[in-house]
Amino acid sequence: MEQFPMDTVATALTSAEAAAVDWSDAAPKCSHRRCERTADYYVDQHGCRDFFVCELHLRRERYRVAEMIAKTKSGRVVCVDCKRPARTWSEGLHTVSLSGGAA
Ligand SMILES: [Zn+2]
Ligand SMILES: [Zn+2]
Repeated sequence: MEQFPMDTVATALTSAEAAAVDWSDAAPKCSHRRCERTADYYVDQHGCRDFFVCELHLRRERYRVAEMIAKTKSGRVVCVDCKRPARTWSEGLHTVSLSGGAA
């Protein structure tokens, strides 16, 4: 079974790590490796992980996960941490815009 998402995201934080960072102090950077952009979104993987992504990488990750799901026979991917299945991006991941509102 394919696992989501993360194989292209290098510096994902655990929930505890994310909670320990004072984000009011500095704008978080995109978690993608080699990406220097400021993050536009916060993504919560149902409590298993948290990560930050810029607009571009959110779109890329969503697309990649959708493709992965489309390719599996079961129509599902599982969380890399807890093995919880998801049939859509939003079933496994909660996306919050850092400029306010949900994406
Ligand atoms: Zn990025
Ligand atoms: Zn999980």
